[in-house]
Amino acid sequence: MTNAIEADGLVKTFGRTRALDGLDITVAEGEVHGFLGPNGAGKSTTIRVLLGLLRARDGRASVLGRDPWRDAVAIHRDVAYVPGDVALWPNLSGGETIDLLTGMRGGADPALRARLLDDFELDPRKKGRGYSKGNRQKVALVAAFARPARLYILDEPTSGLDPVMESVFQAEVRRVAADGATVLLSSHILSEVEQLCERVTIVRAGKAVESGTLAELRHLTRTSIRVTTAADAAAIAHLDGVHDLQQEAGALVFDVDTDRLQGVLGTLTAAGVSTLTATPPSLEELFLRHYGDRLPQQEEAV
Ligand code: ADP
Repeated sequence: MTNAIEADGLVKTFGRTRALDGLDITVAEGEVHGFLGPNGAGKSTTIRVLLGLLRARDGRASVLGRDPWRDAVAIHRDVAYVPGDVALWPNLSGGETIDLLTGMRGGADPALRARLLDDFELDPRKKGRGYSKGNRQKVALVAAFARPARLYILDEPTSGLDPVMESVFQAEVRRVAADGATVLLSSHILSEVEQLCERVTIVRAGKAVESGTLAELRHLTRTSIRVTTAADAAAIAHLDGVHDLQQEAGALVFDVDTDRLQGVLGTLTAAGVSTLTATPPSLEELFLRHYGDRLPQQEEAV
């Protein structure tokens, strides 16, 4: 399988800020890849390098087999891009803006454009200056999805959208992915990434700190178990991989290293189980491992 995006050792500095400090990311063709990290981690800078908007000081990048700095024109024919904070031409209507943006890639598919305006509940007649942040975001999203692209680069695309529009957005990502397109989705909304992405790269301070499928990354974490069992609590507490065991209303509640799950479940079932709930580790827990007790959303406010 070829890779839609490859970047190795990207370095980018702004004055004294080292925005990218040897960042690596690989996105296979046809996959929906989550690009996760708190604000300031370097996601947008990476994306701007991949789009040829910024030149990396060091490292190598390739997008659809081309060099983004030298071949930006060719790349942009095949790439739909949605920035996190969309700036519009104040005097163009939403519809004109959509046509201008999709025109760079050969023009919108009229039926698709009409359907997207409907689904995103966007009035295309208003001038750019009259749109709220959420509506500006919708203009960029309709433009991105109104003509098929080989690669969708979406940088915090749903900031400012309400939950209904978030689900419209997710349906569009699933549609283009089913058609074989590649999607790079930068986000700090973990549930969005969890629902859409097969693989993720987690970035911190300009470097990728984890990369892999959600299943692989979950392997590094713990599953929470609540079980009503005849097994002896003290014996379970001493099993390999079991942490923080407590007794609550006749049930045992504990966490278990996901790679020790099988052994622990074996012991429980041998003793007899009447009820059992297992909660798989979330991406949120993965984040906590890397960012201490601060969630990425909170880091922004610090
Ligand atoms: P993210 O997209 O993950 O929020 P960014 O790539 O926007 O992170 O930012 C990475 C770092 O680079 C931050 O410290 C940010 O302040 C800095 N930075 C980004 N763009 C610029 C710029 N044009 N000038 C100066 N500093 C910048």
